[in-house]
Amino acid sequence: MKNLIVVLLLFFITLTSFKKEQQEEGQELKGLVVILDPGHGGLDNGAHGYFGQDKTKIIESVYCYDIALRLESLLIKKGAIVYKTINNLQIKPINYEYNDFIKRDTNSVFSYDGTRAVSGLIGLSKRVEYANNKLLIYPDSKIVYISIHFDKLPNTIYGTRIIIGNSSTKLANCLKDEFKKENFLTNHKFSILYNGDKTKGIKNLIVLRNTNKIKEKVLIELGNFNHENDLNRLVDCQGRDEYANIICKSLVVFMNNE
Ligand SMILES: [Zn+2]
Repeated sequence: MKNLIVVLLLFFITLTSFKKEQQEEGQELKGLVVILDPGHGGLDNGAHGYFGQDKTKIIESVYCYDIALRLESLLIKKGAIVYKTINNLQIKPINYEYNDFIKRDTNSVFSYDGTRAVSGLIGLSKRVEYANNKLLIYPDSKIVYISIHFDKLPNTIYGTRIIIGNSSTKLANCLKDEFKKENFLTNHKFSILYNGDKTKGIKNLIVLRNTNKIKEKVLIELGNFNHENDLNRLVDCQGRDEYANIICKSLVVFMNNE
């Protein structure tokens, strides 16, 4: 009887530690707060390109929102807390059929105040204010700000570029390494660019200014609407999954290095 109790006890201890290990394995991003900013939305379409022989118009706002949703679900599975700066309950991209086009949709609202998303100083400031509010709620957590975009550049340039504020390059370097590993990184001479660097054609972007108090903040230009391969990748839902996967992997590396 005594032996049986010992065996049972050992069995339960093993089972509990196995379960704990399993849980920790999938929780690489526990303790991380991610402010995900799908760069445009609402009345602000962002940039656009034309796909295929029918010249279907592909709009930056809805495609970046789709990638943000895919990324959000990956990050939550790994234990991160995720907040999006805008929300659009009309878009459910996970269920889209392969290569189904995502139509223009103006229903996105700012998470900050529930008003329709717009471009310009007032709209962009709401994204920053929202992020700063979250920073107050999680003073002891690692917190990052990731703005997702797709650019329109000359057709000789392709791949992903990362724009950073002047506060930290840690997250940007992790992103650069992971995008490079998958051959997604830009052929442009500079893959990491500083906000407001006019010599390299970078505007002084509001979401990356010091008024955004989050130290680790990046704006990712995933690709170029004028480059065929980039546009094909954006239109293909597997391509959008790949973008989301690479960003998620970069965050795991970033957390491991902390
Ligand atoms: Zn954009």
